Amino acid sequence: MSEPEIVRFEVEGVVGIITVDYPPVNALGPGVREGIIASVDKGNADPAVKVMVLIGAGRSFIAGADIRMFGKPRPVYTRVSYDVLDESRKPIVAAIHGFALGGGLEHALACNYRVAVPSAKVGLPEVLIGIIPGGGGTQRLPRLIGPKAAMEMIVSGRHVPAEEAKVMGIIDAILPGVDLRHEAIDFARNIAAKRPLPRVRDRTDHVAQAKADPGLFDAMRKSIAKKARNQQAPYHAIASVEAAVAQPFDEGIKTEWRLFSELETSDEAKALRYAFFAEREVAKIPGAPKDFKPQSVKSAAVIGAGTMGGGIAMSFADVGIPVKVLEVARDALDRGMQRVRDNYATSVKRGSLSQTEMDARLARIQPVERYEDIGDADVVIEAVFERIDIKKDVFTKLDAVMKPGALLLTNSSAIDTDIMANVTKRPGDVAGAHFFAPANVMKLFEVVKGTKTSLETIVSAMKVGRDIGKISAVAGTCDGFAANRSRAPFVTEMMLMLEEGALPEQIDKVMVAFGYPIGPFAVSDMSGLDISYDTRKRRAAADPNFRKLHVPDRLVEMGRKGQKTGAGWYRYEKGDRTPHPDEVVKSVIADVAREFGIAQRTFTDDEILRRLLYASVNEACKILEEGRAYRASDIDVMWLHGFGYPRYRGGLMFWADGIGTKEVYRQVAEWHERYGARWKPSALLKALAESGTPFREAKPKVAM
Ligand code: NAD
Repeated sequence: MSEPEIVRFEVEGVVGIITVDYPPVNALGPGVREGIIASVDKGNADPAVKVMVLIGAGRSFIAGADIRMFGKPRPVYTRVSYDVLDESRKPIVAAIHGFALGGGLEHALACNYRVAVPSAKVGLPEVLIGIIPGGGGTQRLPRLIGPKAAMEMIVSGRHVPAEEAKVMGIIDAILPGVDLRHEAIDFARNIAAKRPLPRVRDRTDHVAQAKADPGLFDAMRKSIAKKARNQQAPYHAIASVEAAVAQPFDEGIKTEWRLFSELETSDEAKALRYAFFAEREVAKIPGAPKDFKPQSVKSAAVIGAGTMGGGIAMSFADVGIPVKVLEVARDALDRGMQRVRDNYATSVKRGSLSQTEMDARLARIQPVERYEDIGDADVVIEAVFERIDIKKDVFTKLDAVMKPGALLLTNSSAIDTDIMANVTKRPGDVAGAHFFAPANVMKLFEVVKGTKTSLETIVSAMKVGRDIGKISAVAGTCDGFAANRSRAPFVTEMMLMLEEGALPEQIDKVMVAFGYPIGPFAVSDMSGLDISYDTRKRRAAADPNFRKLHVPDRLVEMGRKGQKTGAGWYRYEKGDRTPHPDEVVKSVIADVAREFGIAQRTFTDDEILRRLLYASVNEACKILEEGRAYRASDIDVMWLHGFGYPRYRGGLMFWADGIGTKEVYRQVAEWHERYGARWKPSALLKALAESGTPFREAKPKVAM
């Protein structure tokens, strides 16, 4: 394709129209910047043209940079498109629909005027991929809307809706958007003769004001300290905006570029770019029929209105999909609906939801009492007690009433999907839809493929997850599926390290320092120690070699079930959720160590981190080896969205690639010698180490 086709220049009366036409979203790919420069030159050279409009073809203005180009050599531009827009002798109007993000908004900021349709969104989300805007965004935005508002936008990376952007001063006018091109041309004609040309770079009012408030930047740094822990980009963003206040425009641009360049190849930026692409890759289903395009579901049903069922129903209602809820009895249904109402009411009280919106969402959740009432739903999700007999009964009934083609999904945490599928006459339509608690909040939606689940069902179930705002990932059916199964050894090791001399608060501190929002023991106190206690009892009864976890067992038997009982791994003061280290826990640990003659030693922080994460890396390799996940990066996506793993570390397997397969294998093998069977290295891990292949290139041995 030649350049003029990527960016077109047309003249209508006195208006030169620059159209960026680079599908799908007009990213700043090769030729776009050059095309803009050439068009502005044409407009300035043509005496008939008095004013120009910069607009995007298709569904968006310029959506942003092409992320694949970061960290790679880039062309050297003799002229910079932002400068060319800035220096134009004739006014230029950016006409925004869809998205103006990153470099897209930066181009708009270099225009003299910005107009937008009401549904447009603008933002500088670079920080979310570990960098800062490098096209003048950190210099122009503070000049336009003030450094405080600019920092908030750049550090959060959020997408600002057009109406809000107008109030902030980013957008000059909101146009109806019935025909943006013509509306923008009208706007352009009206301002064509106005002089002097407004240029963001020349604005001094906000910057002068900010000079009187020197504490502004330190206050911002302080306010992000917790969330931006271990990260550089948010701080570089603040420093760059600081330069907009302290330095003349052209100097500030140089500072911005220096800070941008420092970040571009940082570990943080690499990890965040990896996470970005892993989230796109996870949606790809190997072997899926190419011509199969699933429809969005228009109605849903949930069986069981307990902890999970209620949250699942809310997930549908929240995005506007009507959902019916069926329970075993009227009182259970009433209790479930009351919990849903209470949940929404809490959000209203907190101010994150309006009363009107709460009412609208509640109206979408319809309690029903008979299976016949749900037969026409496009998808049904079962969330009843984790008991095989009950689940089989429910699926037999679903098979009898659900319309042909309906998706039959189960939220079971561990029961083999095949068991439910096999009681129906349509096992191909049955799959797991494993939510994480709280179901209306956690983003991971693990789609579990049973032996007979069709690929169409998998593709459709993945789409259901995306439609309700989740990140869908596929796992093969097995105990724990892929997400929980890969995390289970982490949990075992954190308990066993206690017996050897580590303390919960030490382990929590290490993991928080690594980047988790909360340490794993504090998390366990939140979800309750009794849940895994019951699972362990079941497993111990079934397996004589099951390694008992004495410390948590004893805590539960003492009534220490976590926050709900005021004590678990930590002690809690009444009405307060702050965990306090507890001597009682210490003495339980000491008792267990003495009774079983376990030698005590000290752990370094590094050993704790590696012991927890290597245990899971080894298990993840077994999952891949068995074909229970499509790719290592899918497991990373599961950890990012199911377990609060720090995004700027990419994911479990990405992190492990930073260590190297050889070293991970060496350590796992050593611990296998020391601790026995549970550390047996996976065959895949061994093979990767021997061939020097990174985890990200690991291929499952068998198809799912
Ligand atoms: P829960 O006990 O809170 O709720 C289960 C609900 O199912 C109850 O309200 C019960 O009355 C109802 N129920 C029981 N039998 C029924 C039947 N025959 N027909 C209709 N309703 C019936 O349990 P939960 O924590 O919501 O778990 C539900 C499922 O979700 C389980 O399979 C569990 O393994 C799975 N799960 C739980 C979590 C979690 O963290 N709690 C996470 C992921 C998956």
